[in-house]
Amino acid sequence: MGFSTDAIHAGQEPDPSTGAVVVPIYQTSTYAQEELGKHKGYEYSRTGNPTRTALERNMAVLEGGHSGLAFASGMAAIHAVLTMLKSGDHIVCTDGAYGGVPRLLDAVLKNFGLDCSYVDTSSADRVREALRPNTRMVFVETPTNPLMAVADLAAVAAITRQRKIQLVVDNTFLSPYFQRPLELGADIVVHSTTKYLNGHSDGVGGVAVLAREEDAARLQFIQNAAGAVMGPMDAWLVLRGIKTLAVRMRQHSANAMAVAGYLSQHPKVSKVYYPGLAAHPQHALAKKQMSGFGGMMSFETGSFENARAVLNRVRLCLLGESLGGVETLISHPATMTHAYFQEEDRQRIGITQGLVRLSVGIEDVEDLIGDLKQALEAI
Ligand SMILES: *Cc1c(COP(=O)(O)O)cnc(C)c1O
Repeated sequence: MGFSTDAIHAGQEPDPSTGAVVVPIYQTSTYAQEELGKHKGYEYSRTGNPTRTALERNMAVLEGGHSGLAFASGMAAIHAVLTMLKSGDHIVCTDGAYGGVPRLLDAVLKNFGLDCSYVDTSSADRVREALRPNTRMVFVETPTNPLMAVADLAAVAAITRQRKIQLVVDNTFLSPYFQRPLELGADIVVHSTTKYLNGHSDGVGGVAVLAREEDAARLQFIQNAAGAVMGPMDAWLVLRGIKTLAVRMRQHSANAMAVAGYLSQHPKVSKVYYPGLAAHPQHALAKKQMSGFGGMMSFETGSFENARAVLNRVRLCLLGESLGGVETLISHPATMTHAYFQEEDRQRIGITQGLVRLSVGIEDVEDLIGDLKQALEAI
């Protein structure tokens, strides 16, 4: 089946008792058993819930994996995946990854004996050089937030495969509509469903999809043991969001391409980071590995004062964290999403005080460009 057909139907048979076309919100904690030791596959909603199961099956199909597992947030999904490791294990992680990931690794999991090195994963050689005898996982985000660096997933997978290291890819920015890491050799894909999969900025959640049955069984054990599960109402909202994922992603990408083209011509903007632009350093790789460039970009205004002037003057673009919703969001990575980093780390990665990030929504693109035009006049 094609992607949109699967997005609408996979994991979602009409309800057997009523014929309801939409999977109901099974707002229940427990399930009556027919007799001792005999039940219909559900015993307790931390372990399993039919609305959550529908989303988990749907995501497994969309990412081309063995199983999906849904969590209370993207960070809960990532935390669960990281706890598949043991004390003494070493991780190699993208240096520009979502700020919550280094925060979790350095300020929480380090206390449990997990050690992490951060490298520029847009170079497969850097990944190889960072490997140690005890490296058990490579965690890659591509494209990165907010500088849109692209990692060559097939090249990284060739390295991790050889050494039996798990390759985990955060696919939040592109969604399976534009990028399918398991097909390129990754072992596990994680998502913040809060972003494009839900798509409507009305729920927080996360999903992990695993290529292999034994990994799926282990993560399912952890999901039940630790218990950071997605609730049925949130699972239902994500299922609803995914039905329109393909049309939304196409529009996000078309709008972003137009906005990136406009900004890259603007005299007050010195640089635009968007993989769809021919000037992007990994444009050729992006074209090969991704089937679209997505809705995320950032641009350089030159100084904190300039960035503040633009952010305070926009009217249609909403100043806020998060991304991937139908509405356009604008933010200042240095003081918002990447405030946790030390200034020297931000400098090293390239997150300047003048950098502005855009999550381009699906409004009429002329309105978005008009808003950015009037805001840039403040510089
Ligand atoms: C938002 C985000 C996360 C964290 O997800 P939450 O749902 O906020 O916990 C992880 N990775 C990326 C790329 C994100 O954008």
